Amino acid sequence: MLNLNWNYHSHTLYTDGSHTVEEIASYCDGHGIKEIAITEHVKRELSYDFDALLSDIKHANSKFKVNIITGLEAKILPDGTLDCTEEIKSKVDIVIGSVHSLNGMDQYGAYEKLARSDCMIIGHPQLCSDKIIASMVSTGKIVELSARYDQQDDMIMAFKEAGLLFSIGLDSHKLSELDDFDRVKEMIQNFGLQDRLWKFTKNS
Ligand SMILES: [Zn+2]
Ligand SMILES: [Zn+2]
Repeated sequence: MLNLNWNYHSHTLYTDGSHTVEEIASYCDGHGIKEIAITEHVKRELSYDFDALLSDIKHANSKFKVNIITGLEAKILPDGTLDCTEEIKSKVDIVIGSVHSLNGMDQYGAYEKLARSDCMIIGHPQLCSDKIIASMVSTGKIVELSARYDQQDDMIMAFKEAGLLFSIGLDSHKLSELDDFDRVKEMIQNFGLQDRLWKFTKNS
């Protein structure tokens, strides 16, 4: 029986989520979630105080029975870098890179750049090619199983065949989405990914 109790992609009131870090931590504590990553949207020009977010996480970590990991989600830019400063990147444990606004790139081109970028996890991937997968393998990317975006069966199979590891990232914006594992559970079972799930360790 597959028991999922971690979620490596969530948002808070600092950006477009609906709850504070403390509300998220309290919900996780009460619902058996052992590990959660707060992966706020960032950009080079931040519109909120990232250090205040980190201090909320530290506080909630000491108050609730859930391991809260620091993270961020940044979009890929046409120049192949993430829309994020090195300083903010150095302050977190999990860096998710995503294709959001294309800024003139085509989708394949955007995923090719993302696959070669210095993110750790590819956020909610929606397409791939042999070339994209080869880059993901050579840069050691982890690919996200998403509860929010449609993901094609043949893409998930291609990731599996390439030997990539999968991150469970529900992209939660509301409390009820923090432990809504049904869809990713179904994918894990359908594609036999039970032993291919990535778990965070401090040195990964
Ligand atoms: Zn995203
Ligand atoms: Zn997100």
